[in-house]
Amino acid sequence: MLLSACGSTSAGANGVASPSPRRTSASPSPSPTALGRIAAFAGRPRSGDGPSGSLRVTGTRAVALTFDDGPSPTWTPRILALLRKYHVHATFCIIGREAKAYPKLVRQIVKEGHTLCNHSWDHDEFLNQRSTAYIRSEMTRTNAAIRRAVPHASIRYYRQPGGNWSARIVRQARSLGMTPLHWSVDPSDWQRPPARSIIHTVKSTTRRGSIILDHDGGGDRSHTYAALKVLLPYLGRKYDLIRL
Ligand SMILES: [Zn+2]
Repeated sequence: MLLSACGSTSAGANGVASPSPRRTSASPSPSPTALGRIAAFAGRPRSGDGPSGSLRVTGTRAVALTFDDGPSPTWTPRILALLRKYHVHATFCIIGREAKAYPKLVRQIVKEGHTLCNHSWDHDEFLNQRSTAYIRSEMTRTNAAIRRAVPHASIRYYRQPGGNWSARIVRQARSLGMTPLHWSVDPSDWQRPPARSIIHTVKSTTRRGSIILDHDGGGDRSHTYAALKVLLPYLGRKYDLIRL
């Protein structure tokens, strides 16, 4: 299946201060402070300074990794294994149709402590041109598919495919209890640039508070996977990596 851009809008600079001092090792699990922050973020949908008021940065010094367009039977298990290896938790923006096809992978994502995000039913990049009822049905259908896999799953984020936000999309996401989630670092990995290019973009544009956009689904993610082998230990040394 060929899906197009999550990151078709430009990411730009972060607007957050310079990189944090190097840390000696990746945290084996979220620190008490990080857990406190996660608890503080649970609850009402948040606003941010991204398009249409979506969240573009974490709001703390911590950096968040996000993975879009899965779950993929080929790549999601491999990326989950890498995240386990480096003790990193991330946020997975899931397509409803894929959740329906691969419920076991949704269960594995949740079981391994990652955060869920709704990424529409079928990666509709033109939701901003559709009716309120249609937008809402795409969102609720996706949440229902996720919850068929994991009853009572917490789905606190929504990410619009293509980053094509509108006020109406944001309103509907919020009314369903989901924070609209954008990003601030985009290596355009869905376009399959060489791993070294993904690595360079992420290293050179990540700052404190960055939300990094990557993909575990939507096609051949071998370049993303190769880049993550370098980026996970690098980012883990340099930043607190949090799930949202
Ligand atoms: Zn996407």
